[in-house]
Amino acid sequence: MEIVFATNNPNKLREVQSLVPKYITLLSLKDIGCNDDIPETQPTIEGNAIQKAEYIKTNYGYDCFADDTGLEVQALNNEPGVYSARYAGPQRDANDNMDLLLKNLEAQSDRTAQFKTVIALHLNGSLETFTGICKGKITETKSGNQGFGYDPIFQPEGYDQTFAEMSLENKNKIGHRGKAVGLLVDFLSELR
Ligand code: IMP
Repeated sequence: MEIVFATNNPNKLREVQSLVPKYITLLSLKDIGCNDDIPETQPTIEGNAIQKAEYIKTNYGYDCFADDTGLEVQALNNEPGVYSARYAGPQRDANDNMDLLLKNLEAQSDRTAQFKTVIALHLNGSLETFTGICKGKITETKSGNQGFGYDPIFQPEGYDQTFAEMSLENKNKIGHRGKAVGLLVDFLSELR
């Protein structure tokens, strides 16, 4: 069985391929000749994941899953959320995004936050979603140089390190994306 993973990130593809049952072959966007700028215009993380999976099904005919992730900060009404990548502007710069978030939290005592990943799967005519959440808080300053995005200012609950101070292996064990992928893999594994 072939399923498209709507990503151009070869690392994500390889990682998820190693986890799904052997009879499933994952295809990348490149594999199906898709160079489109896939629309992500929905106001929610879940909506964007569904929009991407449906776009591939409609325009390319393949069963497909797509992921979308955002950082939700409680004191900021769950912002940046769906705008996480471009919080400080269209340059999508991780340092600018972190600086703006730290500035917007200066006057706040509540620094509670969570990462949320939603994976939407379009398979055999039906749609399923899988949600992975990692709770934590936003630190006062940046620490660590692993990972990407907001990792240097996100400290997961129960840990005194930021994501950027953890190994990728440990981050994946407790992280939002790892949890959502785990639910997807469980679902695909039960199909046969
Ligand atoms: P995407 O949906 O995976 O492209 O994620 C959207 C944005 O959320 C990224 O550009 C990052 O700013 C942020 N983000 C997603 N996942 C992570 C993560 O694991 N750590 C830190 N930031 C993340």
